[in-house]
Amino acid sequence: MIYEFKCEACNHEFEIQCMVSEYDKYKKQSCPKCKSKKVNRVITPVSISFGRGFFKDGYDSAKNLTSNQNGE
Ligand SMILES: [Zn+2]
Repeated sequence: MIYEFKCEACNHEFEIQCMVSEYDKYKKQSCPKCKSKKVNRVITPVSISFGRGFFKDGYDSAKNLTSNQNGE
């Protein structure tokens, strides 16, 4: 997996390549450029190609299902 991050301090974007199971170790990256720890994970827009409607519907359905299971 390749995770993209963006530094809030200097807007530097960088990528971390690691296993999904290792992500916890890498998600607290500091910026390689300015060493700031204010880095955000960047979600690459690849998933948009599946269609936003599909994504939103799937999310809403999952949410409703969870609510029902909780008896809310
Ligand atoms: Zn930075």
